[in-house]
Amino acid sequence: MKGTDFKLNDSPIQIKGLYKYFENTQVLKGVSLDIKKGEKVVIMGLSGSGKSTLLRCMNLLENPTYGEIWFEGKLLTPIDPYIHFDVIRKSKTYKKMLAAGMGSDEEIIDEIKAKDLLKKFEGKEYNDAIKELEKKHRQDENTTRQDMGMVFQHFNLFNNLTVMQNLTLAPVQLKLKTKEEAEARGLELLKRIGLEEKANVYPSTLSGGQKQRIAIVRALAMDPKVILFDEPTSALDPEMVGEVLDLIKQLAETGMTMVIVTHEMGFAREVADRVLFMDGGVIAEEGTPDDIFNHPKSERLKTFLSKVL
Ligand code: ADP
Ligand code: MG
Repeated sequence: MKGTDFKLNDSPIQIKGLYKYFENTQVLKGVSLDIKKGEKVVIMGLSGSGKSTLLRCMNLLENPTYGEIWFEGKLLTPIDPYIHFDVIRKSKTYKKMLAAGMGSDEEIIDEIKAKDLLKKFEGKEYNDAIKELEKKHRQDENTTRQDMGMVFQHFNLFNNLTVMQNLTLAPVQLKLKTKEEAEARGLELLKRIGLEEKANVYPSTLSGGQKQRIAIVRALAMDPKVILFDEPTSALDPEMVGEVLDLIKQLAETGMTMVIVTHEMGFAREVADRVLFMDGGVIAEEGTPDDIFNHPKSERLKTFLSKVL
């Protein structure tokens, strides 16, 4: 769990030293990532490499085990003392190790992080430091979910609700809009994708491509600042992939910040500002589409590309 001391920059999304364990399985092993305003980030990687878990942690469908996620200067997760060296230095453990001459400041911090030595109670000074950071920076979960839309591989529409009800449910329940306002916005969004005549039908009557386009505008109905897409075309019949990618491209042109897990290379070349290759729970390689597709460095990425191309 080594890493650098905490520092915030001006990117709206900042992921710091993110680890996720399920029971004893480490699925994310230290992901750090900054995403700029309006940036389009494409994530690729073999099945099981942690792509979905990363997205799910970002909008708090999963709780990270260690690490922090910052969104527009607000902390979405609890404080992770391991990435705040000032906080570590206030712990009893650090002070004892330093007094015992167990190493330099840096060596002791590394040791504490690597072996997860911080205990539940590390003294008042330490607890106060954590509390102060939380109070200053923490934001509640609901605000986050509103600002970060998510589009899933399997659409996740509510099948017992009509298309319009799917679009209006969350904005109305969260009291962001009145029913009338939400319906007006819903209709506008349906017109934008040419599906206004589907407002009152149930999702089961739609094609996969239509369902996914509805799921995308459902995310838009919340006026999010970021949209996360998790393999939005993987569950579609080939002839429907195009209409969904076209809609995502249109959205990209509006300047929306987007993170897209996809293996659609042509799309990634066209839309991505940056491509990340995930392997075994870390970002193993990243760069422009040209870097990643034309000049891959690691053998793992070369093998991956030869499989998906
Ligand atoms: P990807 O999206 O890249 O295919 P995932 O993030 O879905 O990868 O999964 C990464 C690993 O985490 C897989 O080995 C998967 O089995 C495991 N995993 C994901 N979710 C859970 C869970 N809720 N409980 C236990 N293991 C999980
Ligand atoms: Mg996945």
